[in-house]
Amino acid sequence: MTELPSRRLLLVHAHPDDESINNGATMARYAAEGAHVTLVTCTLGERGEVIPPELRHLTGPALGAHRRGELAAATAALGVRDVRLLGGAGRYGDSGMMGLAENADPGCFWQADVDEAAGRLAEVILEVRPQVLVTYDDHGGYGHPDHIQAHRVAMRAVDLAAERGHRVAKVYWNRVPRSVADAAFARLQDELSALPFDKSATVDDVPGVVDDERITTTVDGTAYAAAKAAAMRAHATQIEVAEPCFALSNALAQPLFTTEYYELVRGAGQPGETDLFAGLDLGEAS
Ligand SMILES: [Zn+2]
Repeated sequence: MTELPSRRLLLVHAHPDDESINNGATMARYAAEGAHVTLVTCTLGERGEVIPPELRHLTGPALGAHRRGELAAATAALGVRDVRLLGGAGRYGDSGMMGLAENADPGCFWQADVDEAAGRLAEVILEVRPQVLVTYDDHGGYGHPDHIQAHRVAMRAVDLAAERGHRVAKVYWNRVPRSVADAAFARLQDELSALPFDKSATVDDVPGVVDDERITTTVDGTAYAAAKAAAMRAHATQIEVAEPCFALSNALAQPLFTTEYYELVRGAGQPGETDLFAGLDLGEAS
């Protein structure tokens, strides 16, 4: 295998679009700075609701195939080249929103055996040997079954990889500090009349919002705002971007954050760190 860069970051997400919304600025920044950025997406999101009327005929596998193309365009905009679908394209189906009958589909990610799926992710970890892994909290940020399952699979894979020879030094969950979310939604009220969205979402609609004390790490991606917006626009079936906001299929405006926030949940960080790799000895073989 060719030598990988000394800094290696792995992100684990549920559907195409989650990477750009949650971590687009972070991914673009680390890729631009020469780190190896690997994205593992667990499903193709083929149960997502489609925004553009002219694309609403896309459902099921056709939507999954289309969203795979959107993911390729988005990650190209972010400068990220190592993009993988867990178990290969279509291995795990989108489970749909919590409480739907689709949650019981034996082929969906929610029904996947966590150890089996984590074993596949552990293979990626053992190959890439990332020092840093980013995923969702145990609520999946907002309760979507595929996001909860992505969390479980990612955390289990970290343990499996450690047993097999690679310890991921730092694990982070995606976060938004409550004060930042509150201030952004207050600003959004003033901007709403100039936006193509009639209504605003609320702080409760934003995944991963927690009290500020839990934030360990702030990644300033302001310089990569354009890349993040371009990546989000590439997910045209799922996202409508009107900077400094965006909306999902519910058409409720929410702020587009270009500084991204994290909670370190495994490993040792540094107080007030602004770099996911802070405190790591990158000379280590592992
Ligand atoms: Zn998602």
